[in-house]
Amino acid sequence: MNVIFLGAPGSGKGTVSELLIKKNNFIQLSTGDLYREQIAKQTPLGVEAASYMNAGKYVPDEITIKVVKGFLQEHNDKLIFDGFPRTIAQAEALDTILKDLAKQVDKVIYLKCDSKVIIERLTGRLICPKCKKSYHVVSLKPKKEGICDNDGSELIKRPDDQEDKIQVRLNEYNTLTKPLIEYYKDKIVEIQADKGGPEDHYNNIIKEINK
Ligand code: AMP
Repeated sequence: MNVIFLGAPGSGKGTVSELLIKKNNFIQLSTGDLYREQIAKQTPLGVEAASYMNAGKYVPDEITIKVVKGFLQEHNDKLIFDGFPRTIAQAEALDTILKDLAKQVDKVIYLKCDSKVIIERLTGRLICPKCKKSYHVVSLKPKKEGICDNDGSELIKRPDDQEDKIQVRLNEYNTLTKPLIEYYKDKIVEIQADKGGPEDHYNNIIKEINK
């Protein structure tokens, strides 16, 4: 069972993935996390990815597809794709790679979210650079201000969560990623992700996955 989470930045893909990993042993493939790890290690891939990410732009398809192809040689089942595919070319490449491995995309969960809610979430988001847990300065505060509940690391604001970068990211999403809703029309399930909390969304999603 392989599941894609589709949705705008801030729609809650990472937060719900976290619950599915914890409760249902899914493996997450987050291309954003993968790039942030490379940036932290200052690898050539990280340096190249940062030049796009810090501007809010997508990393070119050929780079992202190569990275994902490598990951799929190791893991190709019980996967949650979080933030990949983001373009039609990536979706087509994913179909080909999985087919060669005798696997497929089984479900696509579309986390639908109002754009006002998205901007509120992203402008107030803080993340733990170590465990990747996400917080919010108003609605999802850590127990101790600025500190991760899980591992005590100092929380940071992502460089691309600045308001001008958020607008660029939303434009990229609307132009390049939204067409995937049509591409996956036979497998897609819509979840209203701007009402209720992560546990409610998790419950709705797991019901769909188990159908
Ligand atoms: P995310 O953590 O999913 O919000 O991704 C953060 C940034 O990483 C995006 O704004 C892109 O710059 C880059 N990125 C992550 N996944 C992809 C992808 N599938 N294709 C292109 N760029 C990506």
